[in-house]
Amino acid sequence: MARFTRRDALRLAAAAGASAALPAQAAMGPQDKFDLVIRGGEVVDPSQSLRGRRDLGIRFGRIEAIEAEIPAARAVQTLDAGGKLVLPGLVDLHAHVFPYGSAIGIPADESVAMTGVTTVVSAGDAGANNVAALRRHIAAQTRTRMYAFVHIANMGLAGFPVAELYNIDFAQVDACAKAISENPDFVLGAKVRMSENVIAKHGLEPLRRAILACERSGRPAKLMVHIGGVETPELMSQILDLLRPGDILTHAYSGAPNLAGAFTNIVQDGKLLPAALSAKSRGVVFDVGHGGGSFDFNVLEAASAGGCPPDVISSDLHVFSGNTPGLPFLPWVMSKFLAVGHSLETVVAMATSAPSKVIGRDPKLGTLQVGAPADVSVMELAEGPVSFVDTRGNTRAGRVALKPVQTVAGGVVFGRPYSSPFAVR
Ligand SMILES: [Zn+2]
Repeated sequence: MARFTRRDALRLAAAAGASAALPAQAAMGPQDKFDLVIRGGEVVDPSQSLRGRRDLGIRFGRIEAIEAEIPAARAVQTLDAGGKLVLPGLVDLHAHVFPYGSAIGIPADESVAMTGVTTVVSAGDAGANNVAALRRHIAAQTRTRMYAFVHIANMGLAGFPVAELYNIDFAQVDACAKAISENPDFVLGAKVRMSENVIAKHGLEPLRRAILACERSGRPAKLMVHIGGVETPELMSQILDLLRPGDILTHAYSGAPNLAGAFTNIVQDGKLLPAALSAKSRGVVFDVGHGGGSFDFNVLEAASAGGCPPDVISSDLHVFSGNTPGLPFLPWVMSKFLAVGHSLETVVAMATSAPSKVIGRDPKLGTLQVGAPADVSVMELAEGPVSFVDTRGNTRAGRVALKPVQTVAGGVVFGRPYSSPFAVR
């Protein structure tokens, strides 16, 4: 019988570690070509504190090299990004991407030219009864990377515009827990909408059930909690108090009123709720979720001044919000944050590395680091006076706007002649 020594074990472990640390680099010989080189752009990648002119070399669907210059002869296909920004593919933590299933969903790939989004999270489009359809029929044939929060209501948003939780019986804890548990690579946790026009007078019960579903799943599942016009001012603080570190408060800067017309959001009478600040300090994620009715510059500014700036910028794009004057396409929403004084690096981080950290699956997602998935958004930083409107008619003046030019997912360019074989994930 051959002896397997501790030294052998250490050698094997070291070899495994080394190959994991050097994904494609070691396999690429000096004569090998990159599948795609993105040349001449200004790379902005907050994950590695990088802003400067670089060429990106992509091979086998991953970022293979990021260098001052990669000769054109080393590329099978070249994308000229001269004069443009080269960003990690945008990650949209809140969108509605279950067409044919959720009543408000848009096919994710169809909006790429307008958004530059390469990873999208379905924010509760599906519940336990139809999440398999989202996964098998939509996500499986979509080039945009997709994750999902499964709705605590078992039909998700299929019944829209009829509110999903006027009847609390739709909030099925064990079914939701099972859906989370069975799809750890796809489902991030549970979604619940807490507005009065969604849950009527059910108070904290929908949220309690969504928390229970996460806990019973046996996974490190997160909650995404939609607010805006909750039933009472007190309920808003009670919701905040129940959120756990890592849970996501979406529509955090909503200025929407409740059914009686009262403003019951995280800023009340011009003041940030203490419960919002303590939620922020224990690690609750503040997410924009702009949408068609959920973003108010005044709430944003008061909340930010009080210590609750956003952690994540997301769009809440769907078939209704996409047709509203606030234009909740992710680069346009990001541009609003440039207008109110955030740096380009901060804004890019809030729509790439920050949401990727919330997703918590591939550690290099949302970056352009060597070894990262080759998801890239080439954008123009268009200069000129521009007026941005929120969802309540307030405007802010800006000087620049981000405009998508070309998007690459998994190393394959959208809207360009295809590589052969056209074998995307
Ligand atoms: Zn939404």
